[in-house]
Amino acid sequence: MNRIPYARHSIDDADIEAVCEVLKSDWLTTGPKIDEFESAVAAKLGCRFAVAVNSGTAALHCAVHAANIGPGDEVIVPAITFAATSNAVLYLGARPVFADVLADSLLIDPEDVLRKITPRTKAIIAVDYAGAACDYAALRAITDRYRLTLIADACHSLGGKYRQQSVGQWGDLNCFSMHPVKPITSGEGGFITCDSEYAAARMRSFRNHGIDLDFRQRERMGSWSYAMTELGFNYRLNDLQAALALSQLRKLEEWTARRNEIALWYRDAMASMPLRAVTPLKTSADVVHAYHLFVVRWNRATAGIDRDTALGRLRQNGIFANVHYQPVYLHPYYQRRLRYRQGTCPIAENAAREVISLPMFPGLQRSDVDHVVEQLRLLTARDTRAA
Ligand SMILES: *Cc1c(COP(=O)(O)O)cnc(C)c1O
Repeated sequence: MNRIPYARHSIDDADIEAVCEVLKSDWLTTGPKIDEFESAVAAKLGCRFAVAVNSGTAALHCAVHAANIGPGDEVIVPAITFAATSNAVLYLGARPVFADVLADSLLIDPEDVLRKITPRTKAIIAVDYAGAACDYAALRAITDRYRLTLIADACHSLGGKYRQQSVGQWGDLNCFSMHPVKPITSGEGGFITCDSEYAAARMRSFRNHGIDLDFRQRERMGSWSYAMTELGFNYRLNDLQAALALSQLRKLEEWTARRNEIALWYRDAMASMPLRAVTPLKTSADVVHAYHLFVVRWNRATAGIDRDTALGRLRQNGIFANVHYQPVYLHPYYQRRLRYRQGTCPIAENAAREVISLPMFPGLQRSDVDHVVEQLRLLTARDTRAA
């Protein structure tokens, strides 16, 4: 049987060619492709600077570091996200404080952010969950009022927009991932965009052990000496990955359009399921969705079976739908080691029992979508009877 994953990368001959060229060149790691990729992605997103790193997690770690977060500080993060978002806060010895999400979009709720602010709050990390930009106008009003740094975890939303402007421009620091399931891939990889020259320089140093100059800069200056000025990491993207990322970036608009087309197919099909046992998340008119994920809520009462049973049945029919995410603070590490409490974000906890990420990626065919929709119809048989 045809196996349909929830996400999948697309690689074409141009991508392969781009990587092979680097393999034959003088530079395998930080070389000319890094500069080329950083310039291209900064130009595409309309930002002054882009800093390439080797994962989205590294991007978040760099951003939280550049925001001068440290022990004793608090950073507000949404309950519904990948653990990497709040782990980045822990890496710096600070405490993530979880804000609840809005019930219809599962994006961070600005009102709950306000309730969670204390004198120790230094930053907010907003997550563009599923590919929909957060309410950046509301979040910016809060960060202005309380003098906080606004970090965007835009790992899902590359290709998307908020109020006609590209994501990557809305946070003080904006983090992206190039893991294979994400909008573009470099195998593993990530980057941060910002308009602050100071922040960009600090993140460039942080990705290279905290050393002020990289090897190529020293070579250009004819110098062998370097200074390590703070404690950094090896978060360098390599030139093979940067070449792949550059080649993928050229297809971003086409892929975003395709994802939106697929989302319309799903939405149309679901609108005609009368009992609404499966409902897509709501989207805002302010947003061009990037549809990293196509998330629906499974209504157990109307469907007659629970979400996990439905996921199992979909799998038996070759559909590898997934769940994004359980609230981060319910993970054993957060519960047992860090003593976060169940009940902190009730809307998120409730939603986590209902969400399903249906297959969504540019290579998905109409026939695949029809198969998924047909299986959903069969699973929600009460729907069919009512119709
Ligand atoms: C994927 C992802 C990350 C981490 O990216 P990696 O490249 O896998 O390290 C962080 N935050 C969110 C919301 C993500 O989806």
